[in-house]
Formats: sequence, C-alpha cells, structure tokens
Amino acid sequence: MNCAAYQEDISRYLDDDLSDREEQEMFAHLAGCESCRGFVRDVMQLRNALRRIPAPEPSDSLDRRVLSIPEQWAREHHHVLSRTAGFWKQRLAVPMPAAAAVLLAFLLTTVLALSMWFRPVEQTKPEVRYIMGLPEVEVRGIPGLPAKSVQ
Ligand SMILES: [Zn+2]
Repeated sequence: MNCAAYQEDISRYLDDDLSDREEQEMFAHLAGCESCRGFVRDVMQLRNALRRIPAPEPSDSLDRRVLSIPEQWAREHHHVLSRTAGFWKQRLAVPMPAAAAVLLAFLLTTVLALSMWFRPVEQTKPEVRYIMGLPEVEVRGIPGLPAKSVQ
C-alpha cells in the first residue's frame, strides 16, 4: 500500500470506520512515515478549527420559505384535494334514519347469531357403564405347546 492509500485509511480511522487489522497496519505505517504523520497533524488541526466555527443560524426568510411549503403545495394541488373531498362528501351523504336502520339491523342480526352460536349445552344425565374384562390366563407346561396367553 502506498501513502495515499494509508492517508485514506487515516480519514476512515478518524471516522471510526476502520477494522482492527486495518488500524494495526495504519499505525505500523505511521511509525515509519513522517509524511503520513504530517497528514494526521494537518487533518486533526483542520477538524479542530472546523469545530470552533459556530453552526450557522437559518435566516428568517429561509424559515418563512420552508414553512410556506405546505400552503404552496395545497394551492398547487387544490384541484385534486377539492375533487377528493367532494368524492367523500358524496359517498358519505346517507340520510340519518337509513344509517340508523342499517346499524340497528346489523346489531340485531349479530346479537341473534351470537345467542344461537353460544347456546348453553344441554345437561345430560350421568351414565354409569360397567365394563367387564376377562382375566388373562397363561397356560404353561403342556408338552409340545409353547406358553400362551388366553383370555
Ligand atoms: Zn506514508
């Protein structure tokens, strides 16, 4: 790597954008290169000088221009906004009694459906079942037959 490449790495190091390995290589080069050490000094002096400069305040006219952007946009797009607003007014213009009737019908249907769906389970009488099983018997000792389980 040449000095220009190391000076690029020095800038990246100051931006905290260098890997540990790159950082080690850069410091190894700095130990033996007066030119790159001078570059580091210049960059550090420039950074310190820039930090001392106060941040510029936006002018009042800039504030006014930025704040007027939404109004200007609304003026330029008035035709779209008014058409959209008219569309929604038209779509929502339902007479109040009709809307109330639809809402009432919906609520009644919902209540009816829920009462049918969640009907209480009918109580059944308890039932007793006797389950009998045959004992298992193992037969052994019959000559010529293997041991066998019989129910
Ligand atoms: Zn160098």
